[in-house]
Amino acid sequence: MGFFEGKTAIVTGGGSGIGRALAHALGDAGCRVAITDIVPERIGQVVEELKSKGFKARGYRVDHSRWDEVSKFAERFLSDWGHVDILCSNAGVGMGGRFVETSLEDWEWVLGINLWGCIYTLHAFVPHMIERRSGSILITASDAGLVSIPGMAAYQTSKYGVVGLGETLRMELYEHGIKVSLLCPGFINTNIIRNGRIYLYNSQGRSTKPEIERFYATKGVDPSVVAAAGLKALERDIGIMLVPWSHSGPQYVLKRISPQLYHALFRFLWRKGILHRFFGARP
Ligand code: NAD
Repeated sequence: MGFFEGKTAIVTGGGSGIGRALAHALGDAGCRVAITDIVPERIGQVVEELKSKGFKARGYRVDHSRWDEVSKFAERFLSDWGHVDILCSNAGVGMGGRFVETSLEDWEWVLGINLWGCIYTLHAFVPHMIERRSGSILITASDAGLVSIPGMAAYQTSKYGVVGLGETLRMELYEHGIKVSLLCPGFINTNIIRNGRIYLYNSQGRSTKPEIERFYATKGVDPSVVAAAGLKALERDIGIMLVPWSHSGPQYVLKRISPQLYHALFRFLWRKGILHRFFGARP
């Protein structure tokens, strides 16, 4: 029997992109899958897709940025399904923009979903996993939680936060038989830009969101590749899974060897307008 066979999995933000791909991959591998999302239509569609493949699947409408909703969901889920073996904390949103052009409300929005959403989800389920002395957790962080570039302070802060959380829990929960992995994707062809808040502009002051959306749609990797890497991380207990490695692996290595050189290089690329040129954005 394979690692995933007969297991019960939750994928948060399973209505689109990487979450939807994770739900399909887990179903294909033999799991029964519960997905959550804030958008009911997305839940209905993915649950139908999963059921049409013969998988046991169920959807729950949850806003993961709210503790009252997450705690109620945990109660309902545990009464419906009994326990969780694999918890994928994936729900998230995208944000781009300089620090001075990012409002406090934007900071609260992105941290509320990407960081607090993950904290709430783990806070609700980890005690049950500890009680059962088993379980695997996959947190969809980002390569933006390992390497920074200018123009993404709020998003990167949220993702550095979940990387810190995941790394700590990976050490803390090991003695309870719980494995924790961090999935760190690069540019993936999902709805993240369309659904996100992007405050990057060209030299005429026009938003470059359409160019960034096009970049993700044409150059972004298919979410199924990320899902396959996520299942590999779960099965082989890999702590940090950069996928695809080529998108930011070299920067990650450079930053670890010489943070000084890394910062100088990216400061230069930003100042010269090279970094965001392919999006048509001014520095
Ligand atoms: P997506 O927009 O396609 O999917 C995200 C899903 O999360 C959507 O269905 C959305 O409705 C849901 N969601 C948003 N806020 C929610 C909330 N408060 N409660 C419940 N559900 C909510 O985007 P995606 O790219 O698949 O993003 C999934 C994860 O992957 C995110 O954490 C994102 O930060 C991360 N990520 C994406 C990329 C990328 O390039 N697409 C790269 C690195 C990391």
